[in-house]
Amino acid sequence: MPGRLEGKVAIITGAASGIGLEASLLFAQEGARVVCADINQEAVIRTVAKIHELVGTTADDQPPRAIAVPCDVSREEQVKALVEQAETVYGKLDIMFNNAGIMHPADDNALTTEERIWDLTMSINVKGVWFGCKYAIAAMRRNGGGAIVNTASFVALVGAATPQLAYTASKGAVLAMSRELAMVHARENIRVNSLCPGPLRTPLLMDFLDTPEKKERRLVHVPMGRFGEAIEQARAALFLVSDEASYVTGTDFAVDGGLTGAYVTPE
Ligand code: NAD
Repeated sequence: MPGRLEGKVAIITGAASGIGLEASLLFAQEGARVVCADINQEAVIRTVAKIHELVGTTADDQPPRAIAVPCDVSREEQVKALVEQAETVYGKLDIMFNNAGIMHPADDNALTTEERIWDLTMSINVKGVWFGCKYAIAAMRRNGGGAIVNTASFVALVGAATPQLAYTASKGAVLAMSRELAMVHARENIRVNSLCPGPLRTPLLMDFLDTPEKKERRLVHVPMGRFGEAIEQARAALFLVSDEASYVTGTDFAVDGGLTGAYVTPE
């Protein structure tokens, strides 16, 4: 059976950990050639090694099934070079998963969050997504179309009572930006959707929720009563970037255990 991404070329940012790592493995298993990008060079090289192990390819294949590209998504020249590398190695770009993001431990409420934390969060979570879209859209025009997924968060859909103001604002910007891009490029065969994960059992959140009390304060809001897994987000992203989602654009695709639909949750 051909994979759901057979013949496609995908870039995934934040590919060294969590959602990006799982998506890299899954997209490759579904037949894509994957350009794995992350600021953490050593870890993203490990992602590519895992892909080779999983799909039975080697780094010497021409072209290789996956490549690792060190990239800070907040730096425009690095994102430009990332997309150029995908086109040079594989000849085109079909899929862009702008997934890299941070939630800084010093990100807090309106009174306590320092401007440098705000600026850092915005430059990675918002400008990083914009740069990814900017160069991917240009490449997708050359390719006759493509699919973009930008990782936002459930906190862009409902208010979070535990403050992380810069993060929340940044993810709201991702939703608004993605929706507008979806409209502007709809007739160019370029689809743009946002993925809105609920709280996940990945380092990004678990490093921060380091006590049972902190975990419970969040879990009480999740109807399913558990944190999500990165692979559950990767599967949703797979659907959105695949041809199965050919009429899906401009959505805020929530994968959140029911969190954003909840008024009251079970005791
Ligand atoms: P993670 O921390 O496990 O992985 C994030 C990856 O992004 C890391 O490998 C990191 O090195 C990379 N990264 C950070 N800054 C970068 C930069 N400037 N350039 C390139 N790469 C960079 O986190 P995750 O949980 O997999 O999160 C992925 C996305 O999902 C993020 O956008 C995050 O905001 C979003 N999200 C996560 C949760 C959650 O509960 N974990 C919930 C909602 C949304």
